[in-house]
Amino acid sequence: MNNNTPQAVAGTPDIDELLQDLVHANHILFNEGVVDAFGHVSARHPDRPERFLLARNMAPGLVGAEDIIEFDLDGTPVDADGRKVYLERFIHGEIYRARPDVMAVVHSHSPSVVPFSAVKSAPLRPMCHMSGFLGEGAPIFEIRDVAGEATDLLIRSAPLGESLAHSLGNNNVVLMRGHGATVTGPTLKRAVYRAVYVEVNARLQADALRLGPVEYLTRDEARTAMESTEGQVERPWQLWKMRAQANRR
Ligand code: MN
Repeated sequence: MNNNTPQAVAGTPDIDELLQDLVHANHILFNEGVVDAFGHVSARHPDRPERFLLARNMAPGLVGAEDIIEFDLDGTPVDADGRKVYLERFIHGEIYRARPDVMAVVHSHSPSVVPFSAVKSAPLRPMCHMSGFLGEGAPIFEIRDVAGEATDLLIRSAPLGESLAHSLGNNNVVLMRGHGATVTGPTLKRAVYRAVYVEVNARLQADALRLGPVEYLTRDEARTAMESTEGQVERPWQLWKMRAQANRR
C-alpha cells in the first residue's frame, strides 16, 4: 500500500479480500510457530477506521471467515451474537486508537521472544537485514508499573491497553514482560511478516550473543533494510500461505 494514498482510494483491499487474508494470517502465524493455542491477529476495518476485525475466542489455527467479529476501538464487539471474545482484545483497539498508521496487529507469546521480555539487560535489537523493522529496538511494557505486582499479566482492560500502546510509542514492536510481544504493521501482510521475523531475530540474537558481542544494524541500516525487504512481502506471504494450507489437509 502506498503510504501517501488515502485509505479509501486504490490499494486498500476490499473487505472480502481482507477477511480472507485475515483467515490466512491466523493459519500462517500458527503454522510458522508464532502463535499456538493462544495469541491473535487483527486488521483495521478498511472502510471504517474506528473498527477492527478479530476472530472470536479460539485457537488461531482453527479460525474460519465465519469466526471473524467486528469491534469498536474500545473493545466492544459489534456483531458477536453471543460468541466469546478474546480477553486481550484491548491490545488491538487501543493501539489502533493511538496509532492511525497501524492497519494490523499481532499479539503472540512467540517463544524465542519471551526471554527478551524478561531479561532487561539483553535488549532485543535488529541483528540482520530481515528484521530492520525493529529499528533501534523494542520497548518493554512492564505491567507492574501500571497495575501492581499481582496481575495475571494479561491486557484485560482498555486502560491496560492504553498503557501498552503508550509503551509501544512510535515503534513497530513492544515486548510485554514475562508474557510476549505485540507487533504492528501498515498492512496485514507486513504485520505477519514482522511477527514471523521478530521470532527469527530473537532466535538468531540469542545464538549470536553466545558467540560474543553482537554488531547490530544501525538505525539507518534498519530503515533501509526494512524498506527493501518489506517491499517484497508478497513473496513470503504466498509461500507461508501455501505451506499453511498444505498442512491443514
Ligand atoms: Mn497474551
